[in-house]
Parts: sequence; C-alpha cells; structure tokens
Amino acid sequence: MKSSLNLVFNTIKSVNVSVNQGFGFDVSLDVKREDLIHSIVSGNKYRKLKYNVLFAMEEGYDTLLTFGGAFSNHIAAVAAVGNAYGLKTIGIIRGQELVDKVDENPTLSQAKEKGMAFKFISRSDYRCKTDLSFLKALKTEFGEFYRIPEGGTNNLAVKGCEEILTEEDKEFDYVCAPVGTGGTLSGLINSSKPNQKILGFSALKGSFLNEDISKFAKQENWKLINDYHFGGYAKINEELVTFVNTFNAVNEIPLDPIYTGKMLFGIMDMIKQGYFPKHSKILAIHTGGLQGIEGMNKILKQKRIPLIQYS
Ligand SMILES: *Cc1c(COP(=O)(O)O)cnc(C)c1O
Repeated sequence: MKSSLNLVFNTIKSVNVSVNQGFGFDVSLDVKREDLIHSIVSGNKYRKLKYNVLFAMEEGYDTLLTFGGAFSNHIAAVAAVGNAYGLKTIGIIRGQELVDKVDENPTLSQAKEKGMAFKFISRSDYRCKTDLSFLKALKTEFGEFYRIPEGGTNNLAVKGCEEILTEEDKEFDYVCAPVGTGGTLSGLINSSKPNQKILGFSALKGSFLNEDISKFAKQENWKLINDYHFGGYAKINEELVTFVNTFNAVNEIPLDPIYTGKMLFGIMDMIKQGYFPKHSKILAIHTGGLQGIEGMNKILKQKRIPLIQYS
C-alpha cells in the first residue's frame, strides 16, 4: 500500500502557548497544529481517512459511503478527500428535516459542492445504520461502496492516528487530545512511550468511551477526563466561547468549540488546580475541526451568544 495521500501542505510542528496568565504555573504547554494539515481534511480526520482511502482505491472501489450529522467534520473531510481523489462520495445524514436546509448549512453545502450525494434519514433509522438489512438496502440503492463508519473509526483509522506522534514528541510527559469515538486517542496511546500519559478529553457525556478505546488501545497509560463536556456533544455556553476567543487572541491559535476548545479549557483548568506535577511538559493535539465554526456561529447568533473568532 502507498503510504501517503498528497494532501498535506504543512509540516506539523508544536508551538508553545502561554499558560502563566499571571499565576506562575510551573508547567509548559505545547499545541501540535494538526489543524494546519488541510483546511477541510484537517487534523485527525486526515489521519483517520488516509489508510481507509488508500485501501479503498487499492481494492478498486470508486465510491465512499459514510454517516454523520449536520456539522460533522468527518462528512466534510470525506467529501473533500473524495473530490481530490476522484472517488464518488455518499453521506447518510442524521435528520430528515435537513433535506431542504443544505444550502443554509455550511458543512453540508460545502460537502455538496465537493460532489457528495446525500441521503437524509430519521434519527431512529440512523440508530440502525450498522444493521445488515439497512446496509443491504443501501447497496441496492447506491451499488457497491467502501463504507467508512460514523466518525471514521476503524483499525485503519487508528493506524493513521498512530502517525500523529513523532520522535520529537517523546519529550512530553502528557499528551492530550479530544475524544469523540476514541479512535484518535487509541492511535496516540499505541504510539506513545509507556512513561507518557495520554489524557482524552471527552466531548460527550457517557462512560461507554472507555470500552471503545480499550478495543483498540494496546497500552494502559491513558485516562479519560469527563469533566469538560459542557453538558454534552456540541453543547456550548458563553464561558466556553469567551475562553476560545481569548485563547486565540493570546496565542493566535483558533480552536473549535466542540472538541479542541473544550480540551484546552480543561487543560488550563487542570493546570490551575495543580493536576500536573511541577515541570510537566504537556502536549495538546489540535485535531482540527475549524470548518464547523461557521455553522456553529449561526446557532450562537440565534442564541445571542458572542460569536467564535477563527481567523
Ligand atoms: C472527529 C473529531 C474528534 C474526535 O475524534 P475521535 O477519533 O472520534 O475520538 C476530535 N477533534 C476534532 C476536531 C474532530 O473533528
């Protein structure tokens, strides 16, 4: 199998960010800018798709099919990668009501522009998306396709995420990443040194993630932090938006409010609470996701919450 997709424009380096804020905490924090890989196939979505797309092409598939919600970074990434490699893409989208809202939804309208075809299904049908009968019906409707699961996590995705950490990251004591399905964290765990601690910041409520990660993780040096999901997946409040905007103003690093914003809020809070021993070197993985901000800002505007700055 080939070992790369020609999408990466940047060398991914870590940058040191300010943690002092006048308090003099004796730890360092670096952010690994995986978000700079590509504007849409960004961060962990590039890592997770890489070996899947290479495999699909090698096996002669001409169509990728996957699943996601209205703001899904994964849907956006699959549409863009398919477009770049001449593969047809089909998105099975959660929520029938979205069928006539594509044009007002930045994620879906961009995916459509990249040639993705959609099938909108109800939330109850969406729950059955891995049932054999449902997949059979999709084959009848669309013909042969390479199926990528919701969120993109499978063995090949974890393999791609094992490439996030490089030799120069061995110096860090802690490696932090946001967690949706846990595929990214699993890859980080597998390629970490046993003496490094891998902390996953859950972006959603629920302890089921521990099991999901255990399926893929080959080491025990990890922990899930469940205190910073802000009420659940994609739940946002003004405190979080203010944090994301301040962090960007101080460090010139834009964060998304669903994953990386919550993670960095958590890391900063844990630093203040003295969670990390003195002189700890902390690395936070910026997993991307900035494409979702435009859509999120539309919701914030309706709720009269300040908007997220991301340029
Ligand atoms: C999808 C996504 C995640 C979650 O990754 P998992 O591998 O599903 O845990 C984290 N951060 C961003 C920005 C994402 O888009």
